[in-house]
Amino acid sequence: MLRGDILRKITRPAFERGVVGRRVGAVGRRAKHVVIELDSGWRVVIQPRMTGALLVDHVASSWKRGTGDPYDTIRFALDSGKLLRFRDVRRLGAVFLLDPAKWEKYTAAIGPEPLESSFTAERLHEILVHGRLAVKKAIMDQKRLAGVGNIYANEALWMAEIDPSRESRRITVAESVRLHAAIVDILARSIEGRGTTVRDYRTGTGEPGGYQGRLAVYERDGEPCLRCGRRIAMTHAIDARSSYFCPGCQR
Ligand SMILES: [Zn+2]
Repeated sequence: MLRGDILRKITRPAFERGVVGRRVGAVGRRAKHVVIELDSGWRVVIQPRMTGALLVDHVASSWKRGTGDPYDTIRFALDSGKLLRFRDVRRLGAVFLLDPAKWEKYTAAIGPEPLESSFTAERLHEILVHGRLAVKKAIMDQKRLAGVGNIYANEALWMAEIDPSRESRRITVAESVRLHAAIVDILARSIEGRGTTVRDYRTGTGEPGGYQGRLAVYERDGEPCLRCGRRIAMTHAIDARSSYFCPGCQR
C-alpha cells in the first residue's frame, strides 16, 4: 500500500489484514468498477474513475518500496511472481474492501448491466419512461443503467438518431429499441477494440485502447456528420459534460 488516501470506508491496516495472504477467486466487473473476489468472500472493488489503471507486470520480484512508477497507489505481489498494481495519476479513483453484506448493498444500488441478456429494449424503455431527465443523463445515471459513460452515451444517441437533450419519458418504444441496440453494439465493439483512449486510459498491459479512431461524434464538433453531412455540434447545457450531437439527424 503506497497511497492510503484512495481507500474508502476502511483503514489501511484493516485493508492490509483483509487482503494479504488471500487467494483471488473470480475477477469481474460491475458498472465501471473492477471486482476482485477473495477466498474469504470479501471483495476488493476498484473504481478507476478518470485516470486510474489496473496493470499487471511480470517482474514483481524486482520491485521494491520506493522504486518503480511514482503514480502507483497500491501494489499486490502475487504468488505467480506477477505484480498487480493500481496506477492513478490524479488519484480520483477509489478502492473498497467489502464483506458479503456490504457487497450486496453496493451492487443492489447499481442499475442493470447493459451487456447481460436481462437488459432488453423493454427494460430500457421502462427505465426511460419513469424520468424527466434528459435522455443522455438518464442512460449515464449508474442507478438506472450501469457502465455507460460520457463517450459511449454520446455515441449511442447519435447511432440511435436521438437528441441527447430530449426528456427521457418522451422516448418512444421504437426509439428505445434503437437506443438499446446502439448501447449494446457500441459497448461490445469498444470492448473488442480494447477501450477508448482520449487522454489517459490504458489497457491492462499499458497500451492505449483501439476504439478512439471509430468514434462518430465524440470530440468531432465542427466536422461533418458521418450520416447526413451536417456539422457536429457540442454543448455543455445538458449535464455540464461535453455533449456532441448532429443537429441534422438527431431529432
Ligand atoms: Zn447527421
